Amino acid sequence: MNRPPAVLWIAVVLLLLIPTAAGRLLLDLAGGVLLALLALPLILSGLGWIGWKLLQSRMISCAECGANGLKGAGVCGVCGTPYANAGDTPASAAAPFTPASDLTIDVIAQDVDSDS
Ligand SMILES: [Zn+2]
Repeated sequence: MNRPPAVLWIAVVLLLLIPTAAGRLLLDLAGGVLLALLALPLILSGLGWIGWKLLQSRMISCAECGANGLKGAGVCGVCGTPYANAGDTPASAAAPFTPASDLTIDVIAQDVDSDS
């Protein structure tokens, strides 16, 4: 005669515990674990996306050969061209940063003839 497997005993004990407070705690725990398991891929993919964007913002492409490298490297890892010239973004080099509070907007009042 075979003894019933341990899983069966655990299932019976869990069924007996369900109406009690301990059963409620176990159900809540199982729900929390399930929620964590379902949310984990979403959280991990979100973190991966943020990391990828962060990495992309630190990448620079070589002006000579087009290879991608990190901005801090200084020279292109493929052809050796220094990034110093191409490293600065042309927008910031062409237009120096001016705070918006230093700018002045001139407003000129004009008479508008409403009849004509
Ligand atoms: Zn290069």
